[in-house]
Amino acid sequence: MTRFKIGDRVGVPWLGQTCGTCESCMMGHENLCADAVFTGYTHPGGFAQFTTADEQYSDEFLRLAPQIPVQTSVTTYPLSKTNQALSDLRTGKIHGSVVVMPWQ
Ligand SMILES: [Zn+2]
Repeated sequence: MTRFKIGDRVGVPWLGQTCGTCESCMMGHENLCADAVFTGYTHPGGFAQFTTADEQYSDEFLRLAPQIPVQTSVTTYPLSKTNQALSDLRTGKIHGSVVVMPWQ
């Protein structure tokens, strides 16, 4: 890990690791890789106390401000992806519609 120091709190992406060489990976569709590792599904994470993550996906990591409680931080990654999709729609990077479903 080069972007973070020990003790930094980060949000870890769902896609944890891929082969990097299959057709899906080469086309930028790593989530379809047959050898993909998913955080909280095929690899401990999500609600685990500790996990590991591949530095290759460090661009997807989100640094968490110290004032954000751990209980709140679990929503950081899903909300950031929603925010990114809305931003991409606004800027024309993607076209279509986004459905946001709040929960209580
Ligand atoms: Zn692959």
